[in-house]
Amino acid sequence: MPEKKSNPADLRSMESNQGTIKCKRCLSQSQKEFSGELAIHFKGLAGLNKPIVWAFPKLLVCSQCGFAEFTLPERELRVLRNGTPVEGAMVWLGGM
Ligand SMILES: [Zn+2]
Repeated sequence: MPEKKSNPADLRSMESNQGTIKCKRCLSQSQKEFSGELAIHFKGLAGLNKPIVWAFPKLLVCSQCGFAEFTLPERELRVLRNGTPVEGAMVWLGGM
């Protein structure tokens, strides 16, 4: 099976001439990286019976327009995909 290679042109597509990353929304060069702490809830009343997932991703935030992006780790993604707790993932199941 051939090794999958990323296209270097794709990786550079959002970079400016100075090598900083442009905001995908407003194209400014005002993005900064932060440490994030997120509690992710399922929507609606049905979400009350699903786990709340905590994640601590690196956030890239644009100080011009507020656009933010991050990548969730696979373990937390599995909780969101299935709506059930996964070993090692930090979740809250509700109740007291
Ligand atoms: Zn922006």
